[in-house]
Amino acid sequence: MADPKGFLTTPREEWPRRPADERVRDWDEVYVPGALLPIVGRQADRCMDCGVPFCHEACPLGNLIPEWNDLVSRSDWRAASERLHATNNFPEFTGRLCPAPCEAGCVLAINQPAVTIENVECAIADRAWEEGFVPPLPPERLSGRAVAVIGSGPAGLAAAQQLTRAGHTVAVYERDDRIGGLLRYGIPAFKMEKRHLERRVGQMRAEGTRFRTSTAVGRDVDAAALRARYDAVVIATGATAWRELTVPGRELTGVHQAMEYLPLANRVCEGDLERSPLSAAGRHVVVVGGGDTGADCLGTAVRERAASVTQLDIYARPGAERDEQAEPWPTYPRLYRLSAAHEEARDLRSAPAADADARLFAASTLRFTGDE
Ligand code: SF4
Repeated sequence: MADPKGFLTTPREEWPRRPADERVRDWDEVYVPGALLPIVGRQADRCMDCGVPFCHEACPLGNLIPEWNDLVSRSDWRAASERLHATNNFPEFTGRLCPAPCEAGCVLAINQPAVTIENVECAIADRAWEEGFVPPLPPERLSGRAVAVIGSGPAGLAAAQQLTRAGHTVAVYERDDRIGGLLRYGIPAFKMEKRHLERRVGQMRAEGTRFRTSTAVGRDVDAAALRARYDAVVIATGATAWRELTVPGRELTGVHQAMEYLPLANRVCEGDLERSPLSAAGRHVVVVGGGDTGADCLGTAVRERAASVTQLDIYARPGAERDEQAEPWPTYPRLYRLSAAHEEARDLRSAPAADADARLFAASTLRFTGDE
């Protein structure tokens, strides 16, 4: 770390969001463009370079967080990018979308706000692209082996990139018309603009990965034929299968699953549709489910000009501080968090909730009522 006392002198500062009333009028990312880089060096300097980095353990990718925090604090962006990409194929995705269990495990978080690890990760990735530190890395020689990857979500893309770079001939099969899986049609653009995805897919094409869109294995291509044609098949099919809510009235008109609703809104953003057939415009919307997907629906409904929005969370409202008995550090605690979508939904809430929050907590769905 450039300043060993950084954690004592620098308070946590996050990438600021644009004003809510501005961002609900567009589908661009919610953050202030260009506002992260000026603050991120000092934020990385808050890292204490702990002997046992619990953040590293908490990260599902095993990201080498203290190493790249140190490099950012010394403004060595090229080396930071190399260390970040050593464990993460797509840090510009995780830097925007990950729930950041690393920050819950940050040693600073024991008694003060954690290092803004996810922001640092995002800054390294964005800067690396701007500076040309992430060129295509085609293999030096081919292995003579061919691999099919089924599914082009983040898991499929990461597998395909690693296999291609190892010298195998890789084809990615995607049933949708565009590459990306949930990154493309699940995640709203206000959380991650699709240009980040396009850029990576472009890099992968340049490395030699081939893509077959609108091709469902088992429908358009026989699975046995695929197995015979390739030396190996990686199944990286995604999580678009939804969990059914088996309550009376589920079949009523106007009750839809998130993965029916979100892809249509994304298709409007892609220019495929003028208007979503499930648009929330002018409607009173209830989102069942208090997780990230529910928040994605909330932010989408707000941008579609819903008349009102209410989100039902089955869990009781969590506290602002970690419950040290039930969820001791460094576990990922259930905390009261106000996401960008929750901020935006404040003015459209219909629920008699406290704190200007569109969420109703401890609310279990028993039935839907209606006459259609
Ligand atoms: S934000 Fe997620 S991917 Fe990034 S370092 Fe933290 S846990 Fe790992």
